Formats: sequence, C-alpha cells, structure tokens
Amino acid sequence: MADIHSKETRSYNMSRIRNKDTKPETMVRKYLFSKGLRFRKNDKRYPGHPDILLPKYKAAVFINGCLWHCHEGCPDFVLPKSNQDYWVPKLEKNRRRDEENYAALREDGWNVFIVWECELKKDTKAERLEQLYLEITKQFVGFFRNPIQYQFNLRR
Ligand SMILES: [Zn+2]
Repeated sequence: MADIHSKETRSYNMSRIRNKDTKPETMVRKYLFSKGLRFRKNDKRYPGHPDILLPKYKAAVFINGCLWHCHEGCPDFVLPKSNQDYWVPKLEKNRRRDEENYAALREDGWNVFIVWECELKKDTKAERLEQLYLEITKQFVGFFRNPIQYQFNLRR
C-alpha cells in the first residue's frame, strides 16, 4: 500500500513538473515574444524541427538539454553510471544527428543558434537571453564564434 502511494505521489509530482510553464523552451519563447519577435514552433518542415524558427531573420534556435545533446565540457553533461552500453551509442547518435541538422540548415542560409539549458540557470539567464535576442536581430557583433560558451567558461 505504501508503495502504491509513493508511486502515485511520484507520478503526480512528475506531471506537475512537466506541466509547469517554466520549461526552458517556454522561457526563451516568452522572452523573445516580449521583445516583439514572432516565430514558429517546432516546424516539422525543417531539419531537426527547430524549437524556435524566425523566418524574418532566417534564424533557427535550438534549446538543448546538456545531457541529451552532449554539451562538451559542461558539468551537466555527465553520463549515467549504469547502462553505459545504451547511453554512449545513443548520445553519440544524437550528437551526429544534431550536427547534420545544423549543417543542413546552414546550407539553406539559416543562422543556427544553440541555447544550452545550463545557460538558462538563474545567474546567466538574463544575459544569455538578451544576447540571443541581439544575435538573432543582428545587433550583436561579437568576436567569438560562441561568445556565451567563452564567458560561461570564464566564470567557472
Ligand atoms: Zn551545459
């Protein structure tokens, strides 16, 4: 009986977490919308179904989980200890597929922006979102190919 109860509690908690409006994708969309940008969500016609697609700026934005999309060097990219036979090829496949999708989009003239979930944590969120906005609207002229990565590493 106790077991059943805890299972129910667990699935209740999990459904609450899923339904909460604080998903990283939602956070980024809300921010860009508040800045006046209009976009399409998960457009299936484009490689990788970008989380946010802004045709006006030829911009495709992916909001990537650090484990699932293999954020190199990120403290959140830690392989689960068990079942490595499953995880290693799985994540390797994800990484290859991501790269293929980005390359296909770039070939078609899209600017591809990656936002990592770790960049949306409390301390870096505001800066990352503002920078994304400036990059999309081409107001940001930076020297670094991936400025956030650079700043983020510096801070650690
Ligand atoms: Zn990360």
